[in-house]
Amino acid sequence: VDRSAIMRSVKSKGTKPEMRVRQILYSLGYRYRLHERSLPGTPDIAFLGRRKAILVHGCFWHGHCCTHGLRKPRTNASYWEAKISKNVARDRATEAALKSILWTALTIWECELREPAIVEKKLKKFLGPPRITLLT
Ligand SMILES: [Zn+2]
Repeated sequence: VDRSAIMRSVKSKGTKPEMRVRQILYSLGYRYRLHERSLPGTPDIAFLGRRKAILVHGCFWHGHCCTHGLRKPRTNASYWEAKISKNVARDRATEAALKSILWTALTIWECELREPAIVEKKLKKFLGPPRITLLT
């Protein structure tokens, strides 16, 4: 894996993995709120009626296990490590805070999007069927 490509692809909002998840959700007929600031941790994607949130994480910056075998960057290693552990701690706090207000959160990892069909199944299972609007 090209580590610099991973780093370049990771930003906090409207990242590519998040866009992919939004596309999948939209095409399945789900409607959602983005970066809802009234919720703890400002989850990427929120379903207010369902009390469900989806967090989309880039693997490198959020310390996913799929990156653990990768060679650590030689320069500024302590900087990366501090940043990543801060993100991991924040992600845990967000999930706990959502849970405490009776929300459930699903995390979708960037690497999972290599298999969009599996992500699709996961999203459907988490959310239940999309609301159907009857046009009369
Ligand atoms: Zn991953």
